[in-house]
Amino acid sequence: MRPTPTSTRRKVAVLTAAPLVLLATLAATPTAAGATAEDGFGAAASRAAVRSEVRLGNATEQGVVGSLRARPSARQVATATFNIRYSGFSAEARTAFQRAADIWATQVTSSVPITVDASFGPLPPGALGSAGPGSLWRDFAGAPAPSTWYPEAIANKRAGRQLSADADVVAQFSSSFDGWWFGAGAAPGRKIDFTAVVLHELGHGLGFLGAGEVRDGRGSVRTGGFPISYDRFTENTAGTALLAFPNRSTQLGNQLRSNGVYFDTRAVRNSNSGNRARLFAPSRWQPGSSYSHLNEATYKPGSPNALMTPVINRGETIRTPGPITNAIFSSIGW
Ligand SMILES: [Zn+2]
Repeated sequence: MRPTPTSTRRKVAVLTAAPLVLLATLAATPTAAGATAEDGFGAAASRAAVRSEVRLGNATEQGVVGSLRARPSARQVATATFNIRYSGFSAEARTAFQRAADIWATQVTSSVPITVDASFGPLPPGALGSAGPGSLWRDFAGAPAPSTWYPEAIANKRAGRQLSADADVVAQFSSSFDGWWFGAGAAPGRKIDFTAVVLHELGHGLGFLGAGEVRDGRGSVRTGGFPISYDRFTENTAGTALLAFPNRSTQLGNQLRSNGVYFDTRAVRNSNSGNRARLFAPSRWQPGSSYSHLNEATYKPGSPNALMTPVINRGETIRTPGPITNAIFSSIGW
């Protein structure tokens, strides 16, 4: 690790999380695909959109780290297969995307191939990209817990089969952004490391996200009436599960903006010197950034756990999910 040089001029890219999510259910009987009426997703056409974006921010407080952490060694074997459908990618962008997928393939295990739709094209101004699970599934045969949404790649793994023909992960990246670094080595100080951004976004697509949301001051940690697997392990400073607070309540809205939200499982504590993982929960709700990321100030650039924080700096090069994210993955069903 090296100290982070400070700079007041460099922009940072803010990685916001908001996946494209279709909610799906699979009842015990294959013919009954309806969800409960209360969540409003009873019909096949019922879908909810959650989106996750990567943006270029204008924050200036962080400088650049060019540190390159341990790469997977050549001996690390792939324990999952990624089938990626590229659209609009240049050859070098494709190589970089594949590099990130190859890293995840050594970190997660599944007998079911993980399908990804990756497109490169125009995005709204300021957005670098967006990604997320193609769909969420609950109450399927093999589900680790009942009444809980699982991102499709996890659901497929647990079900032992591809639950739908749609892509498990959907990712989009900006073709108008001209500061990408597609190389394998450390990104130059003025470039954004595309491989790290893909690694980050695939992290969301594979399940690093919760349903947490604040709207009009009221908080929710459920979508379509149920929590996502991630939401089952989030808590406040006192250790009270966020799921214990009334959904769509001011109380929960305050918790989600308390600067004191944690992900707490035995696996995470084992990976983090006995401590819970601190999540990003600023006092102003930041859609796509709050809650579904590790806390930026705790896991600074250069930290082994920097991948899933909401901010990536120019020149910040990351090639591993890190111990906390791996522990969160094992907790949510991987
Ligand atoms: Zn993110």
